[in-house]
Amino acid sequence: MTHVVVVGAGYAGVMAANRLAAVGQSDVRVTVVNPRPEFVERIRLHEHAAGGASAVQERRGLLHRDVRLRVATVDEIAARSVRLDDGAALDFDYLLYAVGSTAAQGPPGAEYACSIADLAGADSLRGQLPRLSAGARVVVIGGGLTGIETAAEIAYRYPSLVVELVSQSVAGWLPESSRASIEGKLAKAGVRLRTGVRVTGIRPDGVVTDTGLLPSDCTVWAGSFGVPDLALRSGLPVAADGRLRTDDTLVCVDHGRIVGVGDAVAPPRHVGEHLRMSCQAAIPMGAHGADTVLALIRGERPEPLSLGLAGQAISLGRRDGFIQATHRDDSARGFVLSGRVAAVVKERVCRFTVASMRFSRAYRWLPGPTPTVPEPNSIAVR
Ligand SMILES: Cc1cc2nc3c(=O)[nH]c(=O)nc-3n(C[C@H](O)[C@H](O)[C@H](O)COP(=O)(O)OP(=O)(O)OC[C@H]3O[C@@H](n4cnc5c(N)ncnc54)[C@H](O)[C@@H]3O)c2cc1C
Repeated sequence: MTHVVVVGAGYAGVMAANRLAAVGQSDVRVTVVNPRPEFVERIRLHEHAAGGASAVQERRGLLHRDVRLRVATVDEIAARSVRLDDGAALDFDYLLYAVGSTAAQGPPGAEYACSIADLAGADSLRGQLPRLSAGARVVVIGGGLTGIETAAEIAYRYPSLVVELVSQSVAGWLPESSRASIEGKLAKAGVRLRTGVRVTGIRPDGVVTDTGLLPSDCTVWAGSFGVPDLALRSGLPVAADGRLRTDDTLVCVDHGRIVGVGDAVAPPRHVGEHLRMSCQAAIPMGAHGADTVLALIRGERPEPLSLGLAGQAISLGRRDGFIQATHRDDSARGFVLSGRVAAVVKERVCRFTVASMRFSRAYRWLPGPTPTVPEPNSIAVR
Protein backbone atom coordinates (compact mmCIF):
# COMPACT_ATOMS: atom_id res chain seq x y z
CA MET A 1 0.00 0.00 0.00
CA THR A 2 1.37 3.43 -1.01
CA HIS A 3 0.38 6.25 1.32
CA VAL A 4 0.08 9.76 -0.14
CA VAL A 5 -0.31 12.62 2.34
CA VAL A 6 -1.70 15.88 0.95
CA VAL A 7 -0.85 18.89 3.15
CA GLY A 8 -3.54 21.53 2.67
CA ALA A 9 -7.07 21.09 1.33
CA GLY A 10 -7.57 24.25 -0.70
CA TYR A 11 -8.14 24.28 -4.47
CA ALA A 12 -4.86 22.55 -5.37
CA GLY A 13 -4.91 20.03 -2.52
CA VAL A 14 -8.54 18.95 -3.04
CA MET A 15 -8.04 18.57 -6.80
CA ALA A 16 -4.85 16.54 -6.27
CA ALA A 17 -6.38 14.28 -3.60
CA ASN A 18 -9.56 13.67 -5.60
CA ARG A 19 -7.68 12.87 -8.80
CA LEU A 20 -5.42 10.42 -6.98
CA ALA A 21 -8.43 8.70 -5.43
CA ALA A 22 -10.53 8.82 -8.62
CA VAL A 23 -7.91 6.93 -10.60
CA GLY A 24 -8.98 4.14 -8.26
CA GLN A 25 -5.71 2.32 -7.67
CA SER A 26 -6.64 0.09 -4.73
CA ASP A 27 -3.03 0.13 -3.51
CA VAL A 28 -2.93 3.94 -3.09
CA ARG A 29 -4.28 5.46 0.14
CA VAL A 30 -4.78 9.23 0.28
CA THR A 31 -4.91 11.31 3.48
CA VAL A 32 -5.49 15.06 3.40
CA VAL A 33 -4.40 17.15 6.38
CA ASN A 34 -6.11 20.53 6.81
CA PRO A 35 -6.65 22.74 9.86
CA ARG A 36 -10.43 22.90 9.46
CA PRO A 37 -13.08 20.44 8.24
CA GLU A 38 -14.84 22.89 5.90
CA PHE A 39 -13.62 24.11 2.50
CA VAL A 40 -12.78 27.82 2.34
CA GLU A 41 -13.71 29.23 -1.05
CA ARG A 42 -11.07 31.96 -0.95
CA ILE A 43 -12.21 33.54 -4.21
CA ARG A 44 -15.41 34.54 -2.39
CA LEU A 45 -13.72 36.03 0.68
CA HIS A 46 -14.57 39.59 -0.43
CA GLU A 47 -18.24 38.58 -0.74
CA HIS A 48 -18.06 36.87 2.65
CA ALA A 49 -16.41 39.94 4.23
CA ALA A 50 -19.10 42.27 2.89
CA GLY A 51 -21.90 40.09 4.27
CA GLY A 52 -22.81 38.26 1.04
CA ALA A 53 -22.46 34.55 0.24
CA SER A 54 -20.46 32.62 2.81
CA ALA A 55 -17.06 31.42 1.65
CA VAL A 56 -17.20 28.49 4.06
CA GLN A 57 -18.56 25.32 2.46
CA GLU A 58 -19.38 21.88 3.76
CA ARG A 59 -16.64 19.59 2.55
CA ARG A 60 -19.08 16.67 2.14
CA GLY A 61 -19.46 15.95 -1.58
CA LEU A 62 -16.33 17.91 -2.43
CA LEU A 63 -13.77 15.34 -1.31
CA HIS A 64 -13.74 11.91 -2.98
CA ARG A 65 -15.25 9.30 -0.65
CA ASP A 66 -11.98 7.34 -0.52
CA VAL A 67 -9.93 10.32 0.68
CA ARG A 68 -9.37 10.48 4.45
CA LEU A 69 -9.46 13.95 5.99
CA ARG A 70 -7.35 14.56 9.05
CA VAL A 71 -8.22 17.85 10.73
CA ALA A 72 -4.87 19.16 11.96
CA THR A 73 -2.01 21.45 11.01
CA VAL A 74 1.30 20.06 9.80
CA ASP A 75 4.06 21.56 11.97
CA GLU A 76 7.04 19.95 10.25
CA ILE A 77 7.87 17.78 7.27
CA ALA A 78 10.61 15.18 7.79
CA ALA A 79 12.11 12.74 5.25
CA ARG A 80 9.19 10.27 5.27
CA SER A 81 6.75 11.64 7.85
CA VAL A 82 4.94 14.77 8.95
CA ARG A 83 4.47 16.00 12.52
CA LEU A 84 1.00 17.32 13.35
CA ASP A 85 0.09 20.02 15.87
CA ASP A 86 -1.75 17.43 17.98
CA GLY A 87 1.57 15.62 18.53
CA ALA A 88 0.83 12.73 16.15
CA ALA A 89 3.05 11.75 13.22
CA LEU A 90 1.88 10.53 9.81
CA ASP A 91 4.20 8.48 7.62
CA PHE A 92 4.09 9.03 3.86
CA ASP A 93 5.48 7.45 0.74
CA TYR A 94 4.72 10.60 -1.26
CA LEU A 95 3.71 14.04 -0.04
CA LEU A 96 1.79 16.71 -1.91
CA TYR A 97 2.69 20.15 -0.59
CA ALA A 98 -0.42 22.34 -1.08
CA VAL A 99 -0.42 24.87 1.77
CA GLY A 100 -1.50 27.82 -0.40
CA SER A 101 -0.99 31.46 0.51
CA THR A 102 -1.89 34.06 3.11
CA ALA A 103 -1.59 37.84 3.32
CA ALA A 104 1.87 39.22 2.63
CA GLN A 105 3.35 41.03 5.58
CA GLY A 106 1.70 44.43 5.80
CA PRO A 107 3.16 47.82 6.76
CA PRO A 108 3.85 48.65 10.44
CA GLY A 109 0.55 48.54 12.34
CA ALA A 110 -0.99 45.93 10.03
CA GLU A 111 -2.64 44.40 13.11
CA TYR A 112 -5.10 47.34 13.04
CA ALA A 113 -6.38 46.21 9.63
CA CYS A 114 -8.39 43.16 8.54
CA SER A 115 -6.67 41.04 5.92
CA ILE A 116 -8.89 39.98 3.02
CA ALA A 117 -6.53 37.12 2.10
CA ASP A 118 -7.72 34.79 4.83
CA LEU A 119 -10.93 33.72 6.51
CA ALA A 120 -10.07 35.23 9.91
CA GLY A 121 -9.77 38.72 8.39
CA ALA A 122 -12.88 38.29 6.25
CA ASP A 123 -14.86 37.05 9.29
CA SER A 124 -13.73 40.05 11.28
CA LEU A 125 -14.89 42.44 8.53
CA ARG A 126 -18.21 40.59 8.23
CA GLY A 127 -18.73 41.38 11.92
CA GLN A 128 -17.47 44.98 11.87
CA LEU A 129 -19.10 46.45 8.76
CA PRO A 130 -22.75 46.20 9.93
CA ARG A 131 -21.81 48.03 13.14
CA LEU A 132 -20.41 51.09 11.35
CA SER A 133 -22.69 54.10 11.23
CA ALA A 134 -23.66 55.88 8.01
CA GLY A 135 -20.83 58.03 6.68
CA ALA A 136 -18.11 55.94 8.40
CA ARG A 137 -14.93 55.52 6.35
CA VAL A 138 -13.63 52.18 5.15
CA VAL A 139 -10.13 52.33 3.65
CA VAL A 140 -9.01 49.42 1.46
CA ILE A 141 -5.23 49.26 0.89
CA GLY A 142 -4.13 47.67 -2.40
CA GLY A 143 -5.08 48.21 -6.03
CA GLY A 144 -4.66 44.58 -7.12
CA LEU A 145 -7.46 42.13 -7.87
CA THR A 146 -8.43 41.49 -4.24
CA GLY A 147 -8.38 45.20 -3.31
CA ILE A 148 -10.52 46.15 -6.31
CA GLU A 149 -13.05 43.36 -5.68
CA THR A 150 -13.23 44.11 -1.95
CA ALA A 151 -13.72 47.86 -2.30
CA ALA A 152 -16.43 47.36 -4.95
CA GLU A 153 -18.21 44.68 -2.92
CA ILE A 154 -18.30 46.80 0.26
CA ALA A 155 -19.53 49.85 -1.68
CA TYR A 156 -22.24 47.67 -3.26
CA ARG A 157 -23.47 46.16 0.03
CA TYR A 158 -23.05 49.31 2.15
CA PRO A 159 -23.89 52.38 0.06
CA SER A 160 -24.09 54.47 3.25
CA LEU A 161 -20.37 53.98 4.00
CA VAL A 162 -17.52 55.99 2.47
CA VAL A 163 -15.24 53.47 0.77
CA GLU A 164 -11.74 54.54 -0.32
CA LEU A 165 -9.20 52.51 -2.26
CA VAL A 166 -5.60 53.56 -1.63
CA SER A 167 -2.78 52.37 -3.84
CA GLN A 168 0.07 53.39 -6.11
CA SER A 169 -2.15 52.34 -9.03
CA VAL A 170 -5.34 50.40 -9.73
CA ALA A 171 -5.03 47.28 -11.92
CA GLY A 172 -1.61 48.64 -12.87
CA TRP A 173 -0.62 45.54 -14.86
CA LEU A 174 -3.52 45.86 -17.34
CA PRO A 175 -3.55 47.91 -20.56
CA GLU A 176 -4.41 51.60 -20.15
CA SER A 177 -7.92 51.21 -21.62
CA SER A 178 -8.79 48.36 -19.22
CA ARG A 179 -7.40 50.28 -16.26
CA ALA A 180 -9.44 53.34 -17.18
CA SER A 181 -12.58 51.23 -17.54
CA ILE A 182 -12.10 49.59 -14.10
CA GLU A 183 -11.37 52.95 -12.46
CA GLY A 184 -14.52 54.39 -14.03
CA LYS A 185 -16.60 51.48 -12.79
CA LEU A 186 -15.20 51.75 -9.26
CA ALA A 187 -15.98 55.47 -9.19
CA LYS A 188 -19.52 54.74 -10.45
CA ALA A 189 -19.92 52.15 -7.69
CA GLY A 190 -19.10 54.88 -5.17
CA VAL A 191 -15.48 53.95 -4.43
CA ARG A 192 -13.18 56.96 -3.94
CA LEU A 193 -9.84 56.31 -5.58
CA ARG A 194 -6.60 57.58 -4.08
CA THR A 195 -3.90 56.54 -6.50
CA GLY A 196 -0.22 57.50 -6.58
CA VAL A 197 -0.21 57.12 -2.80
CA ARG A 198 2.24 54.99 -0.80
CA VAL A 199 1.03 53.55 2.50
CA THR A 200 3.72 53.60 5.20
CA GLY A 201 1.78 52.50 8.25
CA ILE A 202 -1.61 51.72 9.76
CA ARG A 203 -2.97 53.21 13.01
CA PRO A 204 -6.18 52.47 14.92
CA ASP A 205 -7.62 55.77 13.61
CA GLY A 206 -6.31 55.75 10.05
CA VAL A 207 -3.80 54.96 7.36
CA VAL A 208 -0.44 56.73 7.27
CA THR A 209 0.60 57.63 3.73
CA ASP A 210 3.35 59.65 2.09
CA THR A 211 0.76 62.40 1.58
CA GLY A 212 -0.49 62.43 5.20
CA LEU A 213 -2.94 60.58 7.47
CA LEU A 214 -6.08 59.19 5.91
CA PRO A 215 -8.74 58.81 8.64
CA SER A 216 -10.34 55.36 8.71
CA ASP A 217 -12.98 53.69 10.87
CA CYS A 218 -12.24 50.29 9.37
CA THR A 219 -9.11 49.39 7.39
CA VAL A 220 -8.72 46.48 5.00
CA TRP A 221 -5.28 45.14 4.06
CA ALA A 222 -5.38 43.79 0.49
CA GLY A 223 -1.68 43.81 -0.35
CA SER A 224 -0.05 40.93 -2.16
CA PHE A 225 0.05 37.30 -0.99
CA GLY A 226 2.79 35.58 0.99
CA VAL A 227 3.17 31.87 1.75
CA PRO A 228 3.34 29.79 4.96
CA ASP A 229 6.90 29.07 6.12
CA LEU A 230 6.38 25.31 6.51
CA ALA A 231 8.82 24.35 3.72
CA LEU A 232 11.47 26.76 5.05
CA ARG A 233 11.03 25.52 8.64
CA SER A 234 11.32 21.94 7.44
CA GLY A 235 14.63 22.58 5.70
CA LEU A 236 13.20 22.11 2.19
CA PRO A 237 14.50 24.22 -0.71
CA VAL A 238 12.61 27.48 -1.09
CA ALA A 239 12.68 30.50 -3.38
CA ALA A 240 13.39 33.96 -1.89
CA ASP A 241 9.68 34.40 -1.11
CA GLY A 242 9.41 31.06 0.75
CA ARG A 243 7.69 29.03 -1.99
CA LEU A 244 8.81 25.41 -2.32
CA ARG A 245 11.19 24.98 -5.26
CA THR A 246 10.28 22.23 -7.68
CA ASP A 247 11.48 20.95 -11.03
CA ASP A 248 9.33 21.27 -14.14
CA THR A 249 7.28 18.16 -13.23
CA LEU A 250 6.51 19.75 -9.79
CA VAL A 251 8.81 17.39 -7.86
CA CYS A 252 10.71 19.20 -5.07
CA VAL A 253 14.26 19.88 -6.29
CA ASP A 254 15.99 17.91 -3.56
CA HIS A 255 13.31 15.55 -2.24
CA GLY A 256 12.07 13.09 -4.86
CA ARG A 257 9.02 12.08 -2.79
CA ILE A 258 7.61 15.57 -2.32
CA VAL A 259 5.51 17.18 -5.06
CA GLY A 260 4.36 20.81 -4.79
CA VAL A 261 1.14 22.36 -6.12
CA GLY A 262 -0.70 25.68 -5.93
CA ASP A 263 0.25 29.10 -4.59
CA ALA A 264 2.93 27.77 -2.21
CA VAL A 265 5.13 26.45 -5.00
CA ALA A 266 7.76 27.95 -7.33
CA PRO A 267 8.24 25.81 -10.44
CA PRO A 268 11.18 26.78 -12.68
CA ARG A 269 10.78 29.82 -14.91
CA HIS A 270 10.58 27.90 -18.19
CA VAL A 271 7.22 26.37 -17.16
CA GLY A 272 6.01 28.66 -14.39
CA GLU A 273 7.11 32.23 -14.97
CA HIS A 274 3.66 33.33 -16.15
CA LEU A 275 1.74 31.64 -13.32
CA ARG A 276 0.43 34.13 -10.78
CA MET A 277 -1.04 32.98 -7.47
CA SER A 278 -4.60 32.09 -8.44
CA CYS A 279 -7.00 29.18 -8.31
CA GLN A 280 -6.89 29.34 -12.10
CA ALA A 281 -3.33 28.01 -11.78
CA ALA A 282 -3.71 26.08 -8.49
CA ILE A 283 -6.41 23.66 -9.74
CA PRO A 284 -4.57 22.42 -12.86
CA MET A 285 -1.35 22.33 -10.82
CA GLY A 286 -3.18 20.07 -8.35
CA ALA A 287 -4.28 17.78 -11.20
CA HIS A 288 -0.79 17.75 -12.71
CA GLY A 289 0.76 17.08 -9.28
CA ALA A 290 -1.51 14.04 -8.84
CA ASP A 291 -0.41 12.75 -12.27
CA THR A 292 3.23 13.27 -11.26
CA VAL A 293 2.75 11.25 -8.05
CA LEU A 294 1.03 8.45 -9.98
CA ALA A 295 3.89 8.35 -12.49
CA LEU A 296 6.43 8.16 -9.65
CA ILE A 297 4.49 5.31 -8.01
CA ARG A 298 4.52 3.43 -11.33
CA GLY A 299 8.24 4.06 -11.74
CA GLU A 300 7.65 6.24 -14.82
CA ARG A 301 9.18 9.64 -15.61
CA PRO A 302 6.57 12.39 -14.89
CA GLU A 303 5.65 14.89 -17.60
CA PRO A 304 6.71 18.55 -17.35
CA LEU A 305 3.96 20.99 -16.39
CA SER A 306 2.32 22.80 -19.31
CA LEU A 307 -0.35 25.23 -18.10
CA GLY A 308 -1.90 28.16 -19.92
CA LEU A 309 -4.12 30.90 -18.49
CA ALA A 310 -7.24 32.29 -20.18
CA GLY A 311 -8.15 35.58 -18.56
CA GLN A 312 -8.67 37.69 -15.49
CA ALA A 313 -12.22 37.88 -14.20
CA ILE A 314 -12.93 40.70 -11.74
CA SER A 315 -16.20 41.15 -9.87
CA LEU A 316 -17.27 44.75 -9.16
CA GLY A 317 -20.14 44.24 -6.77
CA ARG A 318 -22.89 41.83 -7.82
CA ARG A 319 -24.12 43.65 -10.93
CA ASP A 320 -20.92 44.69 -12.63
CA GLY A 321 -17.65 43.08 -13.59
CA PHE A 322 -14.70 43.21 -15.92
CA ILE A 323 -13.10 40.35 -17.81
CA GLN A 324 -9.76 40.76 -19.51
CA ALA A 325 -9.02 37.96 -21.95
CA THR A 326 -5.35 36.93 -21.91
CA HIS A 327 -2.92 34.92 -23.96
CA ARG A 328 -1.83 31.65 -22.36
CA ASP A 329 1.17 33.47 -20.84
CA ASP A 330 -1.28 35.81 -19.00
CA SER A 331 -0.50 38.85 -21.17
CA ALA A 332 -3.58 40.87 -22.12
CA ARG A 333 -5.41 40.27 -25.41
CA GLY A 334 -7.57 42.85 -27.12
CA PHE A 335 -10.86 41.28 -25.97
CA VAL A 336 -12.67 42.43 -22.83
CA LEU A 337 -16.16 41.97 -21.39
CA SER A 338 -17.75 44.29 -18.90
CA GLY A 339 -21.01 45.16 -17.20
CA ARG A 340 -23.70 42.74 -16.12
CA VAL A 341 -22.62 40.07 -18.62
CA ALA A 342 -19.15 40.07 -17.07
CA ALA A 343 -20.69 39.77 -13.58
CA VAL A 344 -22.66 36.70 -14.73
CA VAL A 345 -19.60 35.14 -16.38
CA LYS A 346 -17.52 35.73 -13.23
CA GLU A 347 -20.19 34.06 -11.08
CA ARG A 348 -20.24 31.06 -13.46
CA VAL A 349 -16.43 30.86 -13.28
CA CYS A 350 -16.64 30.72 -9.45
CA ARG A 351 -19.21 27.91 -9.60
CA PHE A 352 -17.25 25.97 -12.22
CA THR A 353 -14.12 26.29 -10.08
CA VAL A 354 -15.71 24.28 -7.27
CA ALA A 355 -17.50 21.88 -9.63
CA SER A 356 -14.25 21.08 -11.46
CA MET A 357 -12.77 19.56 -8.29
CA ARG A 358 -15.62 17.02 -8.23
CA PHE A 359 -14.84 15.90 -11.79
CA SER A 360 -11.16 15.57 -11.06
CA ARG A 361 -10.49 12.49 -13.16
CA ALA A 362 -11.82 13.98 -16.40
CA TYR A 363 -10.40 17.45 -15.69
CA ARG A 364 -8.28 18.94 -18.51
CA TRP A 365 -6.61 22.34 -18.83
CA LEU A 366 -5.13 24.70 -21.40
CA PRO A 367 -1.56 23.87 -22.44
CA GLY A 368 1.03 26.48 -21.53
CA PRO A 369 2.89 28.92 -23.75
CA THR A 370 5.96 27.60 -25.55
CA PRO A 371 8.49 26.86 -22.79
CA THR A 372 11.72 28.81 -22.70
CA VAL A 373 15.07 27.03 -22.27
CA PRO A 374 15.19 25.10 -18.95
CA GLU A 375 17.47 26.46 -16.25
CA PRO A 376 20.27 24.03 -15.37
CA ASN A 377 19.34 23.93 -11.65
CA SER A 378 15.70 23.03 -12.31
CA ILE A 379 16.38 19.31 -12.65
CA ALA A 380 15.26 17.29 -9.64
CA VAL A 381 17.39 14.87 -7.68
CA ARG A 382 15.49 11.58 -7.65
C1 LIG B 1 -10.60 37.77 -2.03
C2 LIG B 1 -9.89 36.87 -2.99
C3 LIG B 1 -10.37 36.74 -4.29
C4 LIG B 1 -9.72 35.91 -5.20
N1 LIG B 1 -10.20 35.80 -6.46
C5 LIG B 1 -9.61 34.97 -7.33
C6 LIG B 1 -10.13 34.81 -8.64
O1 LIG B 1 -11.11 35.43 -9.01
N2 LIG B 1 -9.51 33.94 -9.47
C7 LIG B 1 -8.40 33.23 -9.09
O2 LIG B 1 -7.89 32.44 -9.90
N3 LIG B 1 -7.88 33.36 -7.85
C8 LIG B 1 -8.45 34.21 -6.97
N4 LIG B 1 -7.94 34.34 -5.70
C9 LIG B 1 -6.70 33.62 -5.35
C10 LIG B 1 -7.00 32.17 -4.94
O3 LIG B 1 -7.93 32.14 -3.91
C11 LIG B 1 -5.73 31.46 -4.48
O4 LIG B 1 -4.73 31.64 -5.43
C12 LIG B 1 -6.03 29.98 -4.26
O5 LIG B 1 -6.79 29.85 -3.08
C13 LIG B 1 -4.77 29.12 -4.17
O6 LIG B 1 -5.14 27.79 -3.99
P1 LIG B 1 -4.24 26.81 -3.12
O7 LIG B 1 -4.92 25.49 -3.11
O8 LIG B 1 -2.83 26.89 -3.57
O9 LIG B 1 -4.25 27.42 -1.65
P2 LIG B 1 -5.44 27.71 -0.62
O10 LIG B 1 -6.75 27.80 -1.30
O11 LIG B 1 -4.95 28.86 0.16
O12 LIG B 1 -5.47 26.40 0.28
C14 LIG B 1 -4.39 26.05 1.11
C15 LIG B 1 -4.90 25.17 2.24
O13 LIG B 1 -3.78 24.67 2.99
C16 LIG B 1 -4.08 24.78 4.37
N5 LIG B 1 -2.82 24.82 5.12
C17 LIG B 1 -1.94 25.84 5.22
N6 LIG B 1 -0.91 25.50 6.02
C18 LIG B 1 -1.15 24.23 6.42
C19 LIG B 1 -0.45 23.32 7.27
N7 LIG B 1 0.72 23.64 7.85
N8 LIG B 1 -0.98 22.10 7.51
C20 LIG B 1 -2.15 21.74 6.91
N9 LIG B 1 -2.86 22.57 6.08
C21 LIG B 1 -2.36 23.80 5.85
C22 LIG B 1 -4.90 26.06 4.45
O14 LIG B 1 -5.62 26.13 5.67
C23 LIG B 1 -5.79 25.91 3.21
O15 LIG B 1 -6.95 25.15 3.51
C24 LIG B 1 -8.58 35.17 -4.77
C25 LIG B 1 -8.11 35.27 -3.45
C26 LIG B 1 -8.75 36.12 -2.57
C27 LIG B 1 -8.24 36.21 -1.15
